[in-house]
Amino acid sequence: MASPLPQYEEYEKKEKCGIFGIWGTEAASQITYQGLFAQQHRGQESAGITVTDGRELFGHTGMGLVSQVFNPRLLKEELKGYGAIGHVRYSTTGSSKLCNAQPLLRQYLMGPVAVAHNGNLINAALLRQEYERHGHIFQSTTDTEIIVHLLAKPSHVEKADPLPHVLKHLQGAFSLLFLFPNRIEAVRDPWGIRPLSLGRTAEGQWCIASETCAFDCTDAEFVRDIEPGEIVRIDDNGVHSRRYDKPAEQGARCVFEHVYFANPASVVFGQNVHLVRETLGRQLARESNVPADCVIPMPDSGRSAALGYAKESDLVFEEGIVPNRFVGRTFIMPSQAARDRAVSMKLNIVEEIVKDRRIVVVDDSIVRGTTTRSKMRALRRAGAKEIHLRISCPPIRHPCFYGIDFATVNELVANNRTVEQIREFIEVDTLSYLSLEGMLACLKVPEKDCCTACWSGNYKIPVNEQASKFSFERDQLKMF
Ligand code: SF4
Repeated sequence: MASPLPQYEEYEKKEKCGIFGIWGTEAASQITYQGLFAQQHRGQESAGITVTDGRELFGHTGMGLVSQVFNPRLLKEELKGYGAIGHVRYSTTGSSKLCNAQPLLRQYLMGPVAVAHNGNLINAALLRQEYERHGHIFQSTTDTEIIVHLLAKPSHVEKADPLPHVLKHLQGAFSLLFLFPNRIEAVRDPWGIRPLSLGRTAEGQWCIASETCAFDCTDAEFVRDIEPGEIVRIDDNGVHSRRYDKPAEQGARCVFEHVYFANPASVVFGQNVHLVRETLGRQLARESNVPADCVIPMPDSGRSAALGYAKESDLVFEEGIVPNRFVGRTFIMPSQAARDRAVSMKLNIVEEIVKDRRIVVVDDSIVRGTTTRSKMRALRRAGAKEIHLRISCPPIRHPCFYGIDFATVNELVANNRTVEQIREFIEVDTLSYLSLEGMLACLKVPEKDCCTACWSGNYKIPVNEQASKFSFERDQLKMF
C-alpha cells in the first residue's frame, strides 16, 4: 500500500498577520518591503504591497515569504508610488489561497481602495450572509472583505466621512490599514486587541506598523501607539487623528503577543517584549523553583523567559538545544516514532550540556503537547538525568477567536487534563506553569485591559464558542 502523502505539519500557534504602511516617499514600496520583512514572524503564507501614485492604486500579492513574493525590479518599476501599505499573512484552515492574500485591492463607487488587516472579525460570517442575501458577490474567503462591502454600502458612501460608520459595524480584533489614492487611514479596534504603532523616519515620513521592530529596519522612530477606537489619517498634510469610538471600558490587549508572538525587540502595549518575557521567567522561578544543574531555553521564544528564570534562581543558563535555522516547514509523519525523529531536523541537542544533568527547560507555552513531548524525548535520548519543564504562561484551555490560530479546543493538551496528567503525557519529571496572577503582575497594562481568554475562558467580546471561527471556514469552503 502506498504511504500517505506527507501533509503540512500541524501548526501549534499562528499569528494572523502583520501590516506596514508609509506615506510621502518615492521609495514607499521598498520601505514597505523592509517593514514587512521585519515582521515576517507574524505571517509566512502570503505577502502583498499596494501603492498609490495619487490617482490609482497598484498592487502585487503572492504566496510565500516576502523575499519570495517581491524582487527589486517589481518594487522599483511596477510598484511606483509615494504611499504604500503592505501585509504578511497566515491563513486559517481552507483559505491559504492567493485570492485571500492582502492588501485586498478593490474598486467601488468612490474609486480604488486597498485594505490590510491584522486580527479576526467575530461577526464577519453573519455580516457576509446578510450581504450575500442582498446579492453581493465576494471574491475572497477572508473575513476582511466584508469591510470593503461595508464601505461600498450606499448609505455609507453618502456620508461626509464614511469610515467611522463602517467601523461601528465591526466586532472582534482589527488593526487595519486602508490605502486610498490620497491617503492612508490606520485604525485600531476599541478593545486594542492587536498592536498598531505610529513611527516617523529620519526623513520625516510617517509610517505605521503592527510591531515597532519594523521601524528599526526602516530607519524610523517609534512615536506612539494608535489608540483603541482611533483613526489616524496620513496624507500630504501630515497626521490627523479622529475617534470613531471611545476605548472599550474593558480593553483586551492580547497578552499572548508578549508571551510568544511579538519580536523580542519590539515595544508592545508600552513594554519591551524581551524584558516582559524575562520578568515572566523570573516570576516563574519564584513560583516553581526546583533543584537543578542548569536552565536551558526552548529556542527561540523561550529564550528571554529562560534567562529570567536562570537569573532569579541563580542557575547557569546553557544553550543545550540548537535550532536549525534553515528548516522551513516540516511535514506530518505517519507514526509517532517518525515524528519524534523529525524533531531532530529542527533541533539539535548538545549532549555535552544535558548528559547526566538535572535540567530546567523553559518554554513559552504548550498547545497540543505532541511536539513538546517529542522534544523532551530527544533530551532524554541525549542523556538528561532529570527534566523539569517550566512554562512561562498558564495552561491554554480555550481557543482564540481574536486572530490567533491555536488548535481546536479538543486538541489542546490542557483541555480536560490536570497539570499532573499533562506532565505524564509530556513525559517529564516535573511540570509547572506560570500562574495567571503571576503573569498579569509582570505587565504594565492593567488587568482590566488585558485579554486572557485562552487561559481563563473570559472572552471580553462575547463569542459563540459552539459556532467558532471554523464554522465560518466551512461556509467559505463551500465556495470552492
Ligand atoms: S484569547 Fe489568548 S491569544 Fe487570543 S487575543 Fe486573547 S490572549 Fe491573545
